[in-house]
Amino acid sequence: MKTILFHQHGGPEVLEYTDFPSPQPAPGEILVRLRAASLNRLDLWVRAGWPGIKLQYPHIPGADGAGEVAELGEGVNGWEIGEPVAINANLGCGECAECLRGNDNRCARWQLLGETRRGTYAEFVSVPARQLFRLPPGFDFRVAAAAGLIFLTAWHSLTRRAALSAGETVVVVGASGGVNTASIQIAKFLGARVIVIGSDEEKLSLAKSLGADELINRQQTPEWHKAVFTLTEKRGAEVIVDNVGVTYPLSLRAAAKGGRIVTVGNTGGPLVEIDNRFVFSKHLSLLGSTMGTLADYHEVMRLVTAGRLRPALDRSFPLREARAAQERLARGQQLGKITLEI
Ligand SMILES: [Zn+2]
Repeated sequence: MKTILFHQHGGPEVLEYTDFPSPQPAPGEILVRLRAASLNRLDLWVRAGWPGIKLQYPHIPGADGAGEVAELGEGVNGWEIGEPVAINANLGCGECAECLRGNDNRCARWQLLGETRRGTYAEFVSVPARQLFRLPPGFDFRVAAAAGLIFLTAWHSLTRRAALSAGETVVVVGASGGVNTASIQIAKFLGARVIVIGSDEEKLSLAKSLGADELINRQQTPEWHKAVFTLTEKRGAEVIVDNVGVTYPLSLRAAAKGGRIVTVGNTGGPLVEIDNRFVFSKHLSLLGSTMGTLADYHEVMRLVTAGRLRPALDRSFPLREARAAQERLARGQQLGKITLEI
């Protein structure tokens, strides 16, 4: 099969477009003929590597993908060859205590496609059958691939962790980034009021087009927590989505009493000083979240395929130009998800 792979960690130049043997579906797995993949920042981190990282080399990047059922592994029933499917990249073992509780994103032997297993920048990938979501005939594979990880992550963090209710106010710190744009749409879908903090007018406009009620440009309003208080009759926001990290000091201030601050990452850096007085005196909850469960994936993909949630799409590149696609992502020029056509 044609694939993008790398033998060693490094910059975009380590990516090679080449032939590689197609995977064989193990018992319980389905081989998928991929038609689209979608890029995540994770792909750049895995390519660059980190101390102690050990992958199976050559490594094939890519968590998100969609395509057609190509072959059924032993013991797999109920699927037809050629059926359109999207892939949930979050792989639980299905057997440990957390998986049996339905918390497969807390699995003891948790894996992620494109990180701990070879991923979706390829013509074929094999995954356990339970990872697949059946797409309606003719559904755009790029939309299905682009929705995957970001909507799964945003859905789990807002519905399961933050327990967002209709009528509450949500602040999303950061106007761009896949999870932030998905969070804006999901919060609106759930009936919340959404305030977005951003620094770039173009990206704030994208947030507006996705349903954001209020925009605050933090270049013009660096003390944006005060603007949040003004917009909420001095209550603050019930839920803050902060995937930046270094913005925590202001997020703690912008939160209402009893507020929940949910985080799935730290694009601005991992270390931050917190003034604990805000945490206890305002009864705040700090909620960490990673990916989502199989059930979350089905719930959110049903909304995506029904057209209720729709990922913003940036440019699409042919598979062989994955290097250019990753360079675009690294420069932060994209508005929405960058996809690969396979
Ligand atoms: Zn497990």
